[in-house]
Amino acid sequence: MATRDAGLGLRIGFIGLGQMGRPMALNLIKGGHSLAVHDTSAEAAAVLGAAGATIAPTPAACAAGADVLITMLPTGAIVRQALFGADGAVVALPKDAIVVDMSTVHPMESDALAADVAATGRVFVDAPVGRTSDHAVRGELLILAGADAATCARLKPVFDLLGSETIVTGARGRGIRVKIVNNFMSIALNALSAEAAVLCEAIGLPLETAFAVMQGTPAGRGHFTTTWPGRVLKGDLSPTFMLDLAHKDLGIAVDLANMSGVPMPMGAAAREVYSAARSAGRGRQDWSAILDHVRAIATRPTR
Ligand code: NAD
Repeated sequence: MATRDAGLGLRIGFIGLGQMGRPMALNLIKGGHSLAVHDTSAEAAAVLGAAGATIAPTPAACAAGADVLITMLPTGAIVRQALFGADGAVVALPKDAIVVDMSTVHPMESDALAADVAATGRVFVDAPVGRTSDHAVRGELLILAGADAATCARLKPVFDLLGSETIVTGARGRGIRVKIVNNFMSIALNALSAEAAVLCEAIGLPLETAFAVMQGTPAGRGHFTTTWPGRVLKGDLSPTFMLDLAHKDLGIAVDLANMSGVPMPMGAAAREVYSAARSAGRGRQDWSAILDHVRAIATRPTR
């Protein structure tokens, strides 16, 4: 990867200067890199111009001569437009440049972009981020790098300025996949947590009491690191807490919610999953057997 001048940092093209991209680009400038930026909003670009970036009128102008091209855009379709649309960035990039898409997009769109970039002889990395724009300002994002260790090592000077933690997933496509799975869990858990919190309020239980309890239980800590490692992930379904009993307790909670006027669609759906697992003969297994139950009913796409 060629630098403009040894010791003066990388030449970076940055497209998408919104809530996330603006502070990220600013941190790269502060870190000593030379930035060309592009955004369809002139105001967004002007902020970076005032900080020392070169404002590029097109994605192609942004990419010309860059060592690394970063996209931080709302959707996969917009990333495709910036890379391959009119005055698109990719053809303007040097052959040894790396395209790093840090947006959150559909993995299938990311795969297609990667293949199309690879067809031009350049490297594509998916590196979506976790956390929020406040973390972006502080350079404390969680970077989920879809690349092998060697490619990530080349991007380390960039990632270290944007984030406080980089998970090197080892292969292209895994960064965006783990991002989507992570967001699925945290977003769904948000709705489930709201049901629990409103149930607390409806039955006169202080939220603080519930929080104090849940901090130390799978309710607050999740199952990946609490109930699963000692049982289902080892293939051991002997019960520490029987699935039948979990089903009974969930039924009590859904019933109490009903009596208290609290809608509980997430809880009710979960009870049906437990009911189906019991119907499949898993009632006397450990409650972590829910994982094996869902595995058993999943249809794997054929390749
Ligand atoms: P945003 O809407 O604030 O910013 C998007 C920027 O892209 C805007 O400045 C817009 O003018 C620009 N833009 C739109 N179309 C363009 C085009 N064709 N060419 C050039 N520029 C264009 O969005 P954001 O919050 O910065 O999010 C960016 C990405 O990061 C999204 O994929 C989002 O899902 C992801 N993300 C956001 C957060 C968050 O907390 N905001 C956290 C993690 C990941």
